[in-house]
Amino acid sequence: MIRNYLGFARGVSGQRLAREAFSQASLFGASFSLLRSATGLCRKQERLVVSISDGTEVSGQAVILATGASYRRLGVPELEALTGAGVFYGAATTEAPAMRGREVYVVGGANSAGQAALYLSKYASCVTLLVRGGSLKKGMSDYLVREIEETVNVRVRLESRVTGGGGSGRLERLTIGDVSSGSTETVPASALFVLIGAEPRTGWLPAEIERGEKGFVATGGDLTRERGSPGCWPLERPPLLLETSMPGVFAAGDVRYRSVKRVASAVGEGSIAIQQVHDYLGRI
Ligand SMILES: Cc1cc2nc3c(=O)[nH]c(=O)nc-3n(C[C@H](O)[C@H](O)[C@H](O)COP(=O)(O)OP(=O)(O)OC[C@H]3O[C@@H](n4cnc5c(N)ncnc54)[C@H](O)[C@@H]3O)c2cc1C
Repeated sequence: MIRNYLGFARGVSGQRLAREAFSQASLFGASFSLLRSATGLCRKQERLVVSISDGTEVSGQAVILATGASYRRLGVPELEALTGAGVFYGAATTEAPAMRGREVYVVGGANSAGQAALYLSKYASCVTLLVRGGSLKKGMSDYLVREIEETVNVRVRLESRVTGGGGSGRLERLTIGDVSSGSTETVPASALFVLIGAEPRTGWLPAEIERGEKGFVATGGDLTRERGSPGCWPLERPPLLLETSMPGVFAAGDVRYRSVKRVASAVGEGSIAIQQVHDYLGRI
């Protein structure tokens, strides 16, 4: 359920949004290759060629990668039902201001969870970071660990995991289990932010496409300029904002390194990418 996309006061399911987008794009003349995956990308002379899982190929002068990312899920059915209604996956930036004065929980032991906890602490009355391991230092940068220790309204619960929760229509409580003793405790909670990892679907891309941390596609200013390193920007002109290290190939949305991981930003980047495709086609 997408709860905070402009124009949908009561939220919209991902399925409905995708169906509407499909109809709209069809009316604008887009053609689709349904139930197929892109499996390869290469340049053949002046054309960029995308291989499709049914053995066919499509080619063009520009390509936009918008293959998103898969979020690791908690796997707790009662919390899955409250996704978007107090249970959030991915970055906390958009929801944070609504957490003013509330007690919130963040699950995860890596940098993204630490950053979310610190950001939320500016609004929430208390932020509890739930970490499965026995130490924060294992998965988080030192500077974040220090900042967390110095922030009075951020608490850390080590060796703990979320085992249940509920609420009527919205998250109201969480059940937290102690990994070593197996004991559980149910606590009141206004929100749960799940940051236990997201994986982009980029394994099929060629080595020329530079990828940042965890395989997300680097674009524009994040590209390596050092000649000779694999996936470095190969041309004299600077890359366009959303252009990858393969000139003419652009990336938008969750698949992009350092993207915001929200629908509005993915849609916005899509329209910027198209404008840049026009810019690119005007130059070649
Ligand atoms: C449970 C959940 C709740 C969320 N709630 C919110 C919310 O309330 N508000 C909000 O703003 N955001 C929310 N998000 C995040 C939001 O869904 C994403 O930021 C957004 O969908 C990103 O759009 P995208 O187009 O980049 O990728 P996606 O929407 O992930 O689309 C990528 C598409 O590419 C397809 N694909 C992948 N690989 C290939 C391939 N090789 N060949 C062909 N097709 C491929 C995928 O099947 C998918 O259809 C939520 C996400 C989740 C998982």
